[in-house]
Amino acid sequence: MTEALFLIDSYLKESSAKVVLVKDGKYVILNRTIFYPKGGGQPNDTGKIIKNLEAYNVMHVDKFSGEISHEVDHPELKAGDAVHCVLNWERRYKLMRSHTAAHVFASLLNKGTGALITGNQLEEDHVRFDFSLEKYDRTILEEYLAKANQLFATDVPVKWYELPREEALKIPGVVKMAHAFPPDLPILRIVEIVGVDKQADGGTHVKNLKEVGKIELIKTENKGKHNRRIYFKLN
Ligand SMILES: [Zn+2]
Repeated sequence: MTEALFLIDSYLKESSAKVVLVKDGKYVILNRTIFYPKGGGQPNDTGKIIKNLEAYNVMHVDKFSGEISHEVDHPELKAGDAVHCVLNWERRYKLMRSHTAAHVFASLLNKGTGALITGNQLEEDHVRFDFSLEKYDRTILEEYLAKANQLFATDVPVKWYELPREEALKIPGVVKMAHAFPPDLPILRIVEIVGVDKQADGGTHVKNLKEVGKIELIKTENKGKHNRRIYFKLN
């Protein structure tokens, strides 16, 4: 089983690793990895796996039967190779900022209006949210974005740690986002934005709300009866 270094330290930009297995010449399994695999509403990381000065571009990272698989752009890596991994940090850091921003926005909206988050997808340049809310009013959403921005101007730590499943599920609202529905595991990873939100979550986050910066509304959509959609981005 690959050691998921990004869950322990989301700020690791480089790491050494060993190739455990290569499938079809281009799907690489490592003993440990800094590359986040697509999942939970967060896109995969990209970057490079380097062996003896030769760089293999990491095009896609996914999870197949529990193993993290790195798709590289050309063959020749093989089991036993010692490699050095380098993240496309600019992309990852934006995704970390967006992911933490998404938790704050969801938490404020949910606490303030009772809205249920039904879908959520992060992209490198925007965040999309689907939620269920009876009353639809763009100014309400703008208000919650403004509230979120106020928080991003303050010094609020973000922490992540593990809890036994039973204990974790006692936290009110710990599963707020549809994407975050916790896998059937005895231990859950909790992302806590101190005083704001606690979520069962396997994503990568910044360690202080100050790092988010500011978010701005792109557009809102009314998708029928109670279904709403909002797009926002980092600015
Ligand atoms: Zn999340």
